[in-house]
Amino acid sequence: MLKVVVVVGVPGVGKSTVLSIASRKLLERGYAVKLVNFGDYMFDYLKKAGLVETRDHIRTLSLSVQLEAQRTAARSIRSDLESVSGDRVVGIVDTHAVVRTSLGYWPGLPLAVVEELRPNAIVVLEAEPDEVVSRQLRDASRYRADLSLRERVEEMLRLNRYYAIASAVISGAVLRFILNREGLAEKAAEELVEVVERI
Ligand code: ATP
Ligand code: AMP
Ligand code: MG
Repeated sequence: MLKVVVVVGVPGVGKSTVLSIASRKLLERGYAVKLVNFGDYMFDYLKKAGLVETRDHIRTLSLSVQLEAQRTAARSIRSDLESVSGDRVVGIVDTHAVVRTSLGYWPGLPLAVVEELRPNAIVVLEAEPDEVVSRQLRDASRYRADLSLRERVEEMLRLNRYYAIASAVISGAVLRFILNREGLAEKAAEELVEVVERI
């Protein structure tokens, strides 16, 4: 049976880091794990259409284009998760409850998306605001300078909670908050594994 866990959190909080550790742990415990990054699906679609060069430009595109990419990504992800065989299949989706676009905040998990993904659990990964800022600044592989003011990170940490709550209500998924403490990504991953084992 397929269980789907959707993980959200502000850019740079450590989702991709924690989820790769959690996937390894779940594999070791005998789960068939499919870890997907929602942004990868959007990026592939938009790159093929010649609309973006990097994943950090997606949020600057027009909302109608982002919406089309979001819907396409949700559909492809569900279909990829369903194609995994095994009796203990876990689909982990690395994504965002809310995206800061040039027009305003925009939901990452509106009804159309949760109808496709059908999450059993939504996990909000969190960290202290100063730690998020320093992780963003340290990570040269990504462009997050439009987000890295401390006040903005604080606002986005708050908004991630609110938007995740809204998505949990419309989807009926259980909601969990996990703290990704500095230097302790392994511990956050362990907590996530426990959630997967109990849903
Ligand atoms: P985005 O939403 O932009 O993809 P993300 O939430 O996936 O961001 P990561 O790319 O996983 O974030 O992590 C950002 C940076 O923070 C990376 O350089 C990573 O090594 C570091 N990091 C992640 N978790 C921790 C932690 N617990 N302690 C210290 N550094 C961490
Ligand atoms: P990430 O690598 O997780 O930061 O994802 C790259 C980009 O993909 C994000 O900055 C967003 O622009 C976009 N993205 C990821 N998930 C979603 C989503 N659920 N809805 C809309 N955009 C998303
Ligand atoms: Mg990431």
